[in-house]
Amino acid sequence: MASQRQHTVARRIEVSGVALHSGKVVRLEILPAGINSGILFKRVDLPGMPSVLAHVSNIQSTDLNTTIASGEAKISTIEHLMAAFAGLGIDNALVKIDGPEVPVMDGSAAPFVDRILAAGISSQDALRRYFVVREAFEFQMGDKWIRVEPSDVTRFEMEIDFKSKAIGRQSYGFDLDRESFIGLAGSRTFCHVNDVNAMRKAGLALGGSLENAVVVSDDEVLNPEGLRYNDEFVRHKLLDCVGDLSLLGAPLVGRVIAYKSGHGLHASFMKAVWSHRHQLLAVVEDLGIRRSSGKTAAAAAGATA
Ligand SMILES: [Zn+2]
Repeated sequence: MASQRQHTVARRIEVSGVALHSGKVVRLEILPAGINSGILFKRVDLPGMPSVLAHVSNIQSTDLNTTIASGEAKISTIEHLMAAFAGLGIDNALVKIDGPEVPVMDGSAAPFVDRILAAGISSQDALRRYFVVREAFEFQMGDKWIRVEPSDVTRFEMEIDFKSKAIGRQSYGFDLDRESFIGLAGSRTFCHVNDVNAMRKAGLALGGSLENAVVVSDDEVLNPEGLRYNDEFVRHKLLDCVGDLSLLGAPLVGRVIAYKSGHGLHASFMKAVWSHRHQLLAVVEDLGIRRSSGKTAAAAAGATA
């Protein structure tokens, strides 16, 4: 992996669609943003247009989606849009949104990816900062776990195991780059038909339909069109993982291995990593130096996270 400049979107992108949980139509604009600004969400429907940075320190809840909040600004279901930014290497963007939830689109990241690629991606006049994993760290919740370990490349591996025969046991792994990410981007969110009924009773998933999720029963996929990939479920779990872990604020260089993980585990894991970041992560701009001289690169970068 070579050193990279920071990137933003080349021009304004407009997206609108139904929000999964509220069922309302939301309009979202993605605008270029300056170096080191990160991904900032701005609630243009609220007085004073408050904003919230997409960062682990602002995660508010992880109940069926990832929600960030700061003051009055609260945004839900950011994970697929965040995955699109992370997978395409977008470091900086301003996301203006006129409601509390990112539109679900088709349940995947592909609509965001397509629009960003159509608008173009601009290189900026500053080097990207990476978080290089210095030592292995594992976080467990019940039978689910996620771990990071040092590696020269950014690699994600996932295994899932569901009772539904339609899903079953699946595993998938890939080195994160733009091309391999595009192979994940079309994988859709999924749920069990019993969960759909429970969510509706709780006033959630009001915008949900077979148009924006794969719905399974105990034995089969209920969508008439079937799956986009045989292993669409595990691909989608990886997509969520890529989106969620980008909330650390800089791309990880390391190997991420997850078993049965989801938004709640990702958030708890990231909070634990963040509180041990000085020990676990080195902030590195020039990955070339790191490769040739090991530890000196962390020193050359001047600081730890
Ligand atoms: Zn998802």
